[in-house]
Amino acid sequence: MPSFKSAAVILQVTDYAEFDRIVSFYTRDHGRLRGIAKGAKRSQKRFGGALEPFTHNEVDYFEREGHGLTRLENCRILNTFPAIILDIKKIAYGHYLLELVNTLTPEREKHPEILDLLLFFLNLLSSQPPREDILRVFEMRLTSLLGYQPQLLQCVSCGREYVPQAAYRFSVNKGGILCAVCHKESDAYPCLSHGTIKIFQQAQQLSLEKLNRIHFSASAHGEGKLIMLQFLEYHIGKRPKSLEFIEQLTKV
Ligand SMILES: [Zn+2]
Repeated sequence: MPSFKSAAVILQVTDYAEFDRIVSFYTRDHGRLRGIAKGAKRSQKRFGGALEPFTHNEVDYFEREGHGLTRLENCRILNTFPAIILDIKKIAYGHYLLELVNTLTPEREKHPEILDLLLFFLNLLSSQPPREDILRVFEMRLTSLLGYQPQLLQCVSCGREYVPQAAYRFSVNKGGILCAVCHKESDAYPCLSHGTIKIFQQAQQLSLEKLNRIHFSASAHGEGKLIMLQFLEYHIGKRPKSLEFIEQLTKV
């Protein structure tokens, strides 16, 4: 059984059989993996607090021939992001980030930059007051790293280059902006103002360490949220579960 050691963030943990847990984790070396943690349910000693969502670990795991699941052997905790679990909004936003990585990334496809993105946003969430608009930046950046970011530099139908003065709408299934000639004011396509397009272009283009400079106005965030949630639902095939938790907190 080949064994590996990699930095990883725990995405999801579920109980399995009497004593075990199934863990979904995103590794630097092999992308997203699932593994069985034998005895993790029965004894806290072996893995300590390492198998909690958000935890950044160095993980030892074995590949088991003929099995989709790896076997988790040891975890060394690097960071538990304690400030996240003290704030209900941070917990809700954080679980949303984990769910997007868990549902959008293909298993066993290596993208170390996705681990960097996730760690950057967990640090951001941990160190600043919770802001919902950082979720929009994360969504945009994650889809870019996976190769299907919304097209915002030219009309996705006719290919004409984006012009700041013109009126644009967004096509979810074509995956980008539509110019006025192509959308013909159809309500089937939500409007996207110049300000929102510009912020999303920055979210696609800025270097990782500058992403925390991006702020949405309330109206840009409203527009951006509408199109990104439709776009993600189109790609995932369902609405992310943790959105419900976020919506409940917004109502309070
Ligand atoms: Zn067009």
